[in-house]
Amino acid sequence: MSMDCLFCKIVAGNIPATTIYEDEDVIVFNDIKPMAKIHFLIVPKLHLESLQSCDASQQQLLGKMLLLAPKLAAEQGLKGFKTLINTGREGGQEVFHVHMHVFGGGLPNA
Ligand code: AMP
Repeated sequence: MSMDCLFCKIVAGNIPATTIYEDEDVIVFNDIKPMAKIHFLIVPKLHLESLQSCDASQQQLLGKMLLLAPKLAAEQGLKGFKTLINTGREGGQEVFHVHMHVFGGGLPNA
């Protein structure tokens, strides 16, 4: 855990989030500024800054995140969805704790 990491604080329960799934490895919560009707973030509990700081030891965890996307999207009623992992400042990453966006259902308020 990184003390100054926003998502580590959510993992620790120190900042509230609308959690839709949690197990020993990951937490999944709704994005605070949704860019689609359904927009959630799949976040490993382990603090990993970005995909660029991952290696083969995270292969199982990253695979688990990928496989959770269709399962949770279906539970949210989505028949299809988009995924996005912003990586590095130049890749649009704002929170430096690996996370996968899952979007679906059209634009908010549409
Ligand atoms: P990224 O640009 O990929 O690093 O995306 C970070 C995402 O985290 C953005 O879509 C934010 O809206 C979202 N976010 C920031 N703070 C929170 C929070 N407290 N709870 C839920 N989502 C958040």
